[in-house]
Amino acid sequence: MLTIGCHLSASNGYLAMAKEAVRIGANTFQFFTRNPRGGAAKPIDTEDISAFHAFCAEHGIHVILAHAPYTLNAAAADPRVLEFCENTMRDDLRRMEYTPGNLYNFHPGSHVKQGAEKGIELISDMLNRILLPEQTTTVLLETMAGKGSEVGRSFEEIRAIIDRVALSDKLGVCMDTCHVSDAGYDIIGDLDGVLSEFDRIVGIDRLRALHINDSMNPPAAHKDRHAKIGEGHIGTDAIVRVIKHPLLSHLPFYLETPQEDNDGYAREIAMLRDAYAREI
Ligand code: FE
Ligand code: FE
Ligand code: ZN
Repeated sequence: MLTIGCHLSASNGYLAMAKEAVRIGANTFQFFTRNPRGGAAKPIDTEDISAFHAFCAEHGIHVILAHAPYTLNAAAADPRVLEFCENTMRDDLRRMEYTPGNLYNFHPGSHVKQGAEKGIELISDMLNRILLPEQTTTVLLETMAGKGSEVGRSFEEIRAIIDRVALSDKLGVCMDTCHVSDAGYDIIGDLDGVLSEFDRIVGIDRLRALHINDSMNPPAAHKDRHAKIGEGHIGTDAIVRVIKHPLLSHLPFYLETPQEDNDGYAREIAMLRDAYAREI
């Protein structure tokens, strides 16, 4: 069964997101833990959470993906930026335990002229401070396009972060199709090769979710501009090969394509479900 959803607004709470997911044909969803521009998260509403759990059980939603604010930087040079990142992620992980056993994705960070090695060190140090042995949430490092000084632009950088984290059983990877294509991995022409490289360097078992986006830019552009499925340089066929690949097809997929409203996501989900069900 295909597990697919998209990014939804969290402003009306968990139950509202789950209902919206079902309305648009999704059986999972992604949301920001708080306003991406920063600021406090809404207080946890335990009534909303119990209604959410009941609704999910009834509608077959078995995993959700929380996305950290993309403005956080665990590789920053400024200690105040690092402290803000640490406090926010620790609070997010505490809140995630109200919906146990799910996924929390973050952008590893930007090393801002300190060099990738220093960035990797700062990110893993941060993870070593915030991960807890008793947590049930898996923290996902998102593969990045390599825009500016982004860390996580290669499978080697992802592996280097994981290697330095003591509680690395709490870590996984979220592969973003737009980002890996922009980073120069040939998911269009050689998906098998990219996945065997990922397996060799990171380990395929670390892969826990995928972001399914087309890219406005050609491979290796290091840009990170998402496009609707079929309207970018990756194309529908390559995206369909991703969701149907035997090493990936059991994982949850999340659309982060630029849409005017959620009905745009509904159309993409329907198209991808249809392609998934069809014989190759
Ligand atoms: Fe992201
Ligand atoms: Fe993404
Ligand atoms: Zn992106």
